[in-house]
Amino acid sequence: MTSTSFADRHIGPAESEQAKMLAECGYGSLDALVEAAVPAAIRDTRELDLPPAASEEEATAELRKLAARNRPMTQMIGLGYYDTLTPPVIRRNVLESPAWYTAYTPYQPEISQGRLEALLNFQTMVADLTGLATANASLLDESTAVAEAVLLMRRASKSRSAKVVLDAECLPQTIAVVRTRAEAVGIEVEVRDLLTGLPDEFFGVVVQYPGASGVLRGPGFYTAIGETARAAGALYCAAADLLALTMITAPGEFGADLAAGSTQRFGLPLGYGGPHAGYLSVRAGLERSLPGRLVGVSVDADGAPAYRLALQTREQHIRREKATSNICTAQVLPAVLAGMYAVYHGPDGLKRIASRVHGLAAGLATALRDGGVEVVHDGFFDTVLARVPGRAARVVADARRFGVNLGLVGDDHVRVACDEVTTPDTLRRVLLAFELEAHVTPGSGALPTGLARQSGYLTHPVFHQHRSETAMLRYLRRLSDLDYALDRGMIPLGSCTMKLNATTEMEPISWPEFAGLHPFAPAGDAEGYRELTAQLSGWLAEVTGYHTVSLQPNAGSQGELAGLLAIRAYHRANGQPEREICLIPSSAHGTNAASAVLAGMRVVVVACTEDGDVDLADLRAKVAQHADTLAAIMVTYPSTHGVYEQGIDEIARIVHGGGGQVYLDGANLNALLGLAKPGEFGGDVSHLNLHKTFCIPHGGGGPGVGPVAVREHLAPYLPNHPLHAGAGPETGVGPIAAAPFGSASILPISWAYVRMMGAAGLTSATKVAVLAANYVAARLGPHYPVLYTGEGGLVAHECILDLRPLTKQTGVTVEDVAKRLVDYGFHAPTMSFPVAGTLMVEPTESEDAGEIDRFCDAMIAIRREIDQVADGTWTLERSPLRNAPHTAELLAGEWDLPYDRKLAVYPAGVSAKGKYWPPVRRIDGAHGDRNLVCSCPPLTSYEN
Ligand SMILES: *Cc1c(COP(=O)(O)O)cnc(C)c1O
Repeated sequence: MTSTSFADRHIGPAESEQAKMLAECGYGSLDALVEAAVPAAIRDTRELDLPPAASEEEATAELRKLAARNRPMTQMIGLGYYDTLTPPVIRRNVLESPAWYTAYTPYQPEISQGRLEALLNFQTMVADLTGLATANASLLDESTAVAEAVLLMRRASKSRSAKVVLDAECLPQTIAVVRTRAEAVGIEVEVRDLLTGLPDEFFGVVVQYPGASGVLRGPGFYTAIGETARAAGALYCAAADLLALTMITAPGEFGADLAAGSTQRFGLPLGYGGPHAGYLSVRAGLERSLPGRLVGVSVDADGAPAYRLALQTREQHIRREKATSNICTAQVLPAVLAGMYAVYHGPDGLKRIASRVHGLAAGLATALRDGGVEVVHDGFFDTVLARVPGRAARVVADARRFGVNLGLVGDDHVRVACDEVTTPDTLRRVLLAFELEAHVTPGSGALPTGLARQSGYLTHPVFHQHRSETAMLRYLRRLSDLDYALDRGMIPLGSCTMKLNATTEMEPISWPEFAGLHPFAPAGDAEGYRELTAQLSGWLAEVTGYHTVSLQPNAGSQGELAGLLAIRAYHRANGQPEREICLIPSSAHGTNAASAVLAGMRVVVVACTEDGDVDLADLRAKVAQHADTLAAIMVTYPSTHGVYEQGIDEIARIVHGGGGQVYLDGANLNALLGLAKPGEFGGDVSHLNLHKTFCIPHGGGGPGVGPVAVREHLAPYLPNHPLHAGAGPETGVGPIAAAPFGSASILPISWAYVRMMGAAGLTSATKVAVLAANYVAARLGPHYPVLYTGEGGLVAHECILDLRPLTKQTGVTVEDVAKRLVDYGFHAPTMSFPVAGTLMVEPTESEDAGEIDRFCDAMIAIRREIDQVADGTWTLERSPLRNAPHTAELLAGEWDLPYDRKLAVYPAGVSAKGKYWPPVRRIDGAHGDRNLVCSCPPLTSYEN
C-alpha cells in the first residue's frame, strides 16, 4: 500500500503506532494477534474478491458516472413523495455538517442538548400540525410508521377483534407493508372503500388524509369514521400529509387517536425513497405506548431545564421479548432537517408554501376541465386525478417527453401531484401531455367546505425567531456547539461502531442525480442506482459469504425482521408452519427478541455460561425440547460480550440438526470483515448495519441501512415491493419498507467505502479494530477488570470493563464514570449493556493511536479518582465523579466542593484550547418521566 492510499487515511494508527500497540498486547505482528483471537474453525484466509482499491478521486469519478446514468425528472408521481427545496442554510449546516451527522443517539443527554432541542422542535411540529398531544422523535418511513400505529392500536384498543381496516385510499406501499407485518402476528387486514362504511368488528381503522388519489372528502366523512370506531371500541389513525395539515382540519380535531406519516416534503430530498423521517403522534393517554424514541424535558442537578430521552424503559433493549416494537435506530438526522424546515419557514411560511401548491393544483384542475378533461375529485389539496379513458399510458409517456413523471393509475387515470418546486411552466408541460395548450393561473377553493383549518399551530417562539439567514445559521451553530460528536473526539461506544465517515463518502448524497429521484420513477430513470445497488449487494454478498442481499431494510431492526420473516416463509413453504420457536441467548441485543415477536415467533431464552458463551448443554436441551417446533436461533457474532465464541460452528450444527435455521446477527461485522464469513461458518441469514461497519454516519440516531443477506434457500423469501419488480423476488414476503430500495440515497456512502478500501484495506481495518480493542483491554485491564475474553485472553472488536467490584466497594457507578468522562472530553462508552454495571468500549480502526491513548489515560485518571473516594479523600457525594459533568456556570458560582475548579474542568490531558463544555449538569431522567413534557416548553419555564 502506498502512503497515500485511502485505507491509510481511514485507519487511524500508523504502522509504527500499531507496532507499539501490538507490543502492549504481547504480539509481534497484527497477523499473529488475529490468528490468536479468531477461532480457526471460522477463519477464512482467502482474499476477498473485490475490485482493487480506488483512490478518492477515482471513486468520485466513478460515482459521477453512475450518477449521470440517473435521470432526475420533474417528479409529479405523488404517493407520499414530493419534491421540496432544502433551504441551503440547512443543507450545508446540518445535512453536510459533521457536527450533526457524526453524532450518536442522544443516550448521554448532557452532551446532546443541541440535537435533543432539534428533536423537540420536530415533535412539537408534528404534534401541533396533527392536533394530537404527543409525537415521537421519528420513525423509519411513512409505511412502517402506519404499521407501528396498527400494532399500537391493537395493544390499546378495547375491541377483541383481530381486524384492522385500511382505507382503499391508503398509499399502496403502506397497504403492502402493513400486510407483511400483520400477517406475521395474526392481524387480519381488510382494505375497503370507507365510503361504504365499516365492518361490525375491528380494532383499528386507518384513513389516508388526503387519499392516495388526492381526494379530500367533507369533514363529516372523517368525523363519522371516528364515531363509528369509538362505538366499536376501536382506535382511529389518520395517515396525514403535514403540508396539507397547514390548511385542513387536523386529525386530532376530527376525532383521530393517532396520526402517522412522513415529513419528507419538509425539505428532505426525494433520494429515490429515503432516508426520510416518518412520524407518529397520539392523543393524550396513549403516549406511554408510543414506539420509538421520545424526547422530553427534565431538570439537571441544579434544577435547570434540560432535555433527555423520556420513558426509556419502554425500549426494546430493556423489554426484550415483552417489547412492543423493535425500533432502535430511527431517523434523527432527517427529523432534525424536517424540524429545521419548520423553524426556517414558520407557520406562515409553511402555509404560504401549502397555499401556493394548492393554488397550482386548483389551477391545473380548472385548465384540465376547461380543456374537456374530466377531473375526478372536487376536493383535493395538491393532487389532481384526471380521467382519460384508454389514454392514461399515452399521457404519462408524453409527459416524460416534456421531462415530467406523472402517476399512471390503471388504463384510465393519471395522477398529477404538485409540490413546492412546481411552477406554472411545469403545469404548462403537464397540460401539453394532455394535448392542451394553456397557461395555468393559480386558483383556490378546491378544499371541501368546512374542512379549512381554523386552529393555530407552531406558536412557540422557536418557529418565529430564526427567519433571517443570519439568525438561522447562528441557531444551527449554537445547537451543534452544545453537542459532542465525532468531529470533537472519540465516541468509544461498544456495539455501535462509531467510526469516522470520510468526506469523499459523504459528498455524493447531495448530488441532484442521487437526491432527485422519485422511488416509483420508471426503472429506466434509475440506471445509475440499479448499477450501484447491484454492485454493492454483490460486494456485501462476497464479504459475508451469502448468496443474495436485500438493501431494502432501513435499520438493523428491520433487517432482523426481514430475515426472520424469510425463515418463517421457508418453513411454511416446506409444510412446517408449526416451526415458530426462536431461541435467543440471554446475552442477545434487545432488538433480537423484539424482532422475533414481531415475526410471529415465540422466544425461548438459552442460558449463557459464566464466561459469557452460549451454554451448549442448555442449547441442546432446548433444541430437543422443541424438536418439532424449532424455527431458528438468533445469535450475535462476535457475541454481544465482544468475544469470538469458540463454539459457534457447533451452535449452528446443533440448531440445524434440530431442523432450525441460524440467524447470525451481523450488526457487528467490524470484527469479521475479511477474516471470516458468517454465511460460510454456519449462518443461514444475517443482517448487516451499514451505519456501523460500512461508514454511514450515525446521524445522531439514524438514518441507518440494515441489509439482510441470505443463503440460497432463503433467497426466494426476501422482501420485494409492489411498485418495483426489480426490488426483490416475486415469491418474497412483501415489502419491509416504504421504498423499494429503502434509504437508497445513502448507499453511495457504503459503496464508496468498499470501493476505496478494497479487499486488503477492509481486512486491515478489521485487524486494526481488533488490535485497538485489545490494546484498550491491555492498558485498562490492570485498572478495571475486562469481563469476558476469548481464546488467548483476547477480545474481538470491543471489550467490557467491569465496574461492579468498584461500585460495591466505593459506590461509584458506571454513570459517574460516564459523566466524568465528559469533563475529560469524551463521549462515554456503552453503559450497562449487555451487562448492568459495566462499560463496553469499542475504539474502531479509525481512531488515531493518540486519541486512544488519551482515552485510556482519562480512564486511568478516573480510576485514581475512584481510589480517592475509597481512601476517604472525598466523600462520594462531594467527589468530582458524582458531581460530573461540571459546567462553566457551576464554576462561576460559589465553589464549596473539596476539590479545586481546575480538577473539575481541566483534569489531566484537557487543555483550555480543546475543552468541550457541557451546557447542563447531570440530568434527572426520572423527574421528567414523572412529569412528562414532550413538546417545546413555554419560554417562561426557563426563567428561574
Ligand atoms: C446495533 C445493533 C442492532 C440494531 O440495529 P439498529 O440499526 O439500531 O436497528 C442489532 N443487533 C446488534 C448486535 C447491534 O449491535
